[in-house]
Amino acid sequence: MSGPIRLGIFGWPIEHSKSPEMHLAAAAALRLELEYLRFGVPSEELPQAVEEKHRLGIDGYNVTVPHKEAMLGLLEEVAPEARAIGAVNTVTREAGRYVGHNTDAPGLVRSLREAGVPLGDSRVVILGAGGAARGAVVGLAGAKVGEIAVLARRPEQAEALVEALERVLPCALRAGALREADRYFSTATLVIQATSATLESNPQAAEFARALPIDSLPSEATVLDMVYRPLRTTVLARAEARGCRTVDGLGMLLHQGALAFEMWTGIQPPLDVMRDALHL
Ligand code: NDP
Repeated sequence: MSGPIRLGIFGWPIEHSKSPEMHLAAAAALRLELEYLRFGVPSEELPQAVEEKHRLGIDGYNVTVPHKEAMLGLLEEVAPEARAIGAVNTVTREAGRYVGHNTDAPGLVRSLREAGVPLGDSRVVILGAGGAARGAVVGLAGAKVGEIAVLARRPEQAEALVEALERVLPCALRAGALREADRYFSTATLVIQATSATLESNPQAAEFARALPIDSLPSEATVLDMVYRPLRTTVLARAEARGCRTVDGLGMLLHQGALAFEMWTGIQPPLDVMRDALHL
């Protein structure tokens, strides 16, 4: 190969993204010539910006908020799992064609496995019914969990998600209202917090955690919060106080990145180096 591997990430805003640091650190450790740039592009300019990068022959890229869904319509090919999730976070170039993938879902599963969380036959409750929740449903169904309940503050959002996926996934799916979480928590073995309510920028973070019936969870249950700003969210703090095992969102971020790196380079990146870069 001549010249560096040319990569980047599309998002808006994009300054906060830690992906460049993570991928550049892995490349440096492997002595791999690689560039990874931030492409800050508002939604209305995305089609044109993507077309331009394709024309220039970019080797691959990541896609983050708010473009993951729109990306589906801008690619020549989309892998079946990314299509089922309805979101693309990684694009590869294969024989000159740009192909969309979703590494968020397998990244979530890897982070749970890394934390030693047993998944087979588990009873999962997912909080939220947006794009991240949909990815979690597809990823966890593939990991052979026993059943998944999706709870949203607007129950119709959870129902739509379940309706779209129940025929294609090998897993019992249920939809419910977040305000009825009590009914689902008492038998849950794993709770995945997939709303944006616990973000440090969200003024409702404390109220959201307070309203959850965390004390109904068995203390053997695990609670993972996908949000990683802050690392210890209001929900994880309550779950910890309940005696539950907690997993923060950094592992998911790390593993989705590691999977993308491997797709682009064919090399398994050093996870510790990437993890350290995320903590900087
Ligand atoms: P979306 O905007 O698609 O969905 C957000 C969901 O959260 C919606 O169901 C929304 O409900 C719900 N929600 C927001 N605020 C509240 C609230 N106060 N109470 C109840 N529900 C609420 O976002 P994504 O699904 O893409 O992402 C969700 C979060 O997951 C992000 O904040 C991101 O930080 C995190 N994430 C982490 C990743 C990682 O690698 N660790 C990867 C991907 C995402 P409504 O529609 O009613 O507003």
